[in-house]
Amino acid sequence: MTTMTLQQFEVGKDGARRVKYVRDIDKIQNIPEDERQKLKRVAEKYVFRANDYYLGLINWKDPKDPIKQLIIPREEELKDWGKLDASNEASVTVARGVQHKYPHTVLLLCNEVCGAYCRYCFRKRLFMDENDETTNDISAGLKYIAEHPEVTNVLLTGGDPLLMSTRRLTEIFEKLRAIPHVKIIRIGSKMPAFDPWRVLSDEKLQESLRKHSLPRSRIYLMAHFDHPRELTDAAVDGIDCFIKCGVICVNQCPLIKGVNDDPMVLAELYSELSHIGCPPYYLFQGRPTAGNEPYEVPIVRGWGIFREAIRHGSGLARRAKYCMSHETGKVEIMGVDDKHIFLRYHRAKYTHLRGRMMIYKRNDDAYWLDQLEPVDGDAPRFDHEHKDNVLDGPE
Ligand code: SF4
Repeated sequence: MTTMTLQQFEVGKDGARRVKYVRDIDKIQNIPEDERQKLKRVAEKYVFRANDYYLGLINWKDPKDPIKQLIIPREEELKDWGKLDASNEASVTVARGVQHKYPHTVLLLCNEVCGAYCRYCFRKRLFMDENDETTNDISAGLKYIAEHPEVTNVLLTGGDPLLMSTRRLTEIFEKLRAIPHVKIIRIGSKMPAFDPWRVLSDEKLQESLRKHSLPRSRIYLMAHFDHPRELTDAAVDGIDCFIKCGVICVNQCPLIKGVNDDPMVLAELYSELSHIGCPPYYLFQGRPTAGNEPYEVPIVRGWGIFREAIRHGSGLARRAKYCMSHETGKVEIMGVDDKHIFLRYHRAKYTHLRGRMMIYKRNDDAYWLDQLEPVDGDAPRFDHEHKDNVLDGPE
C-alpha cells in the first residue's frame, strides 16, 4: 500500500467519503513479508484493525514513524507484562457496560469496536472474543442513571461510540436528554483522528448533535489525538464540524513511548489543539496493561516531558493535567525533585482520599503508583475498610 491521497478514497452513492478497513496485516505490503508473518502472531493475541486513510499517514521510510508505532503491532507486545484490566474497572462496574466510580459521572460502555486499534490501548480486553463488558442494550445503564440524581455527566465510551449508527446514537441522546439531571453527555472518541468523515459526511449525525447539545446541557467530544501529524486538514475540518454543531471539544491522550514522548512533539500537539478549539484536558500515564510494555514511559521521565511541553504555547495549550487513572482514582503527578515524587488525588474513588497530597520516594524506573514507596511510610489506605465511603458524597 502506498501513501494515499485523499482523492483516492471511495465515495459512496450519497457522495460521502468512506474509509476502507484493513484487518489483515498481510494486506499491508509496506511491511516486509517476513516481518508480517511475525506480526500476525501478535495480531492473533491483540487484534489489529486500521483503515486506508490512517495507514496513509505513515511514512514507511521511517522505521520509527510515530503513526506506525501507534497502529502497527510490535513483537514486544507478546512479552508477559501487565494486566488486562490494570485499573480494575471491574470493581466499579454496577451493571453490564455501566461503570460508576466518581459521584457525578457514569460511563456507558456501549460499543466494543474502534475505528482502528491503538496498540497501547488500556481496554484491549474489550476487543477479545470473551469480552462481556460492553452492551448494546443500555436500558440497565439508563435505569441506573435515572435512579441516581447525583449523576450529571454520562460518558459514552467503549470501544468508540461514533462507530455506532447515527440512529442508535440519536436514540441514546434522546433517552439521556429525557433524564433531567443528566447535563453533560461526553463522547469519548478517536474517530476524528481515525476517520474524520464519520462526522463530515453524515448530516444526520450533525443534526442530532445540534439537537442534543443545548445551551445548558452540552455534548462534549473527548477527542483523542496523540500526535500533531494526526491533525490533517480533514481532521481539523472534523473538529470544526463538531464545534459548529454546538459540541464542546477537548483532547485527552496517553503519553506513549515512540509516539509523543518528546516535549517538542507534545508542545506542538497542545498548541495546535488549542488553535483549533480542542484544547488539551488530560495527559494520561500509560496504564500497565498487558501487551503495553513497549509503549510505556516511566513516571519521572513522563513528568520531565510534560513539564517541558507545557512551557511552550499559550495558557489554553497548558490546561492538561498529567494523571494516572489508578484503581483508586485519578492521581495527578504534580512534580518531581531530586528525591521525591509529588502526587495528588484529582479524583478519588474513596472519600478519605479526595484531594489528598502524597509524597513518594523518587523512583526513576516506576511506571505506576503501586511501584512507589511513600516517604514517611504513611501510604494512603487503598484497602476496602473504606468501601462504605464509595460514591457517598461530592468530591
Ligand atoms: S481509540 Fe481508545 S478504546 Fe479504541 S483502541 Fe484506541 S485507546 Fe483503545
